[in-house]
Amino acid sequence: MTKHKAGFVNIIGNPNVGKSTLMNAFVGEKLSIITSKAQTTRHRIFGIVNGDDFQMIISDTPGVIKPAYELQKSMMDFVRSAFDDADVLLYMVEIGEKALKDEDFFKKLTGSKVPVLLLINKIDKADQEQLETQVAYWREQVPNAEVYPISALENFSVEQVFNRILELLPESPPFYPKDQLTDKPERFFVNETIREKILLNYKKEIPYAVEVETEEFLEDEKIIRMRSVIMVERDTQKGIIIGHKGAALKKVGVQAREDLEKFFGKQVHLELYVKVNKNWRSDQRQLRRFGYDQK
Ligand code: GDP
Ligand code: MG
Repeated sequence: MTKHKAGFVNIIGNPNVGKSTLMNAFVGEKLSIITSKAQTTRHRIFGIVNGDDFQMIISDTPGVIKPAYELQKSMMDFVRSAFDDADVLLYMVEIGEKALKDEDFFKKLTGSKVPVLLLINKIDKADQEQLETQVAYWREQVPNAEVYPISALENFSVEQVFNRILELLPESPPFYPKDQLTDKPERFFVNETIREKILLNYKKEIPYAVEVETEEFLEDEKIIRMRSVIMVERDTQKGIIIGHKGAALKKVGVQAREDLEKFFGKQVHLELYVKVNKNWRSDQRQLRRFGYDQK
């Protein structure tokens, strides 16, 4: 009989390198929202891949940045914790990128006691020569890592990396029930889906001032009824979110509903409204309420 393996695989890297894309590719579900903007991911999200004799718990983290306000400090706490409980670390970079923006994190990585796989992502955008230069550069920068050029988007070498992680996982019973896909509640995915549509539909600072809270999630046999509030920091932002005759908000609602129906596999009724909540990003009490808390 083969022994059961289980463990935590944590993905770390600069913003926008493709961390969330890789986690979704591993899990085969859209658990993490993806956009071309930095700071799309604010939380640590677990995606769980279950097999007969293994359980791989993959965690997506926010991109490493220098924090400018309380919300970002909390985001970096999530990254810090990702170093502490990993069985395998995935350090993701993209073609053309130099070292991690935070020196402390970089030191943790090069001094890591757990195995590090360094993934050079987006190789679909590179030629052979570029690729070879990059591989050589990273081998030198992080000598303790195994280097894998991949494309998370085009699914290139993703399976190879997955199999290597499986080899590295320790023997252990599962940590979560074998039918569980993630550690986050359903409402979290509603909030995140709406936030993704806001990131896609509004420019400049608007998305960074937004938090979404789902106040109602009522599921019956045929339909799920949801009511969510979009919080902004100022009245002017509220006007922009709603748009002329409500058109902008309506668009967000329609796009979010389409994704949520796919995610939950059920008809969805989604009610959205906008509320001003001054300076929530700098208020520790509010941040705790929205789940940006390690304790
Ligand atoms: P994160 O900030 O590290 O989580 O990055 P995301 O997963 O949100 O991806 C950032 C952007 O890079 C998105 O526009 C993705 O579609 C894109 N992306 C991710 N992986 C690849 C890849 O392998 N190749 C290319 N060309 N783009 C990618
Ligand atoms: Mg992300």
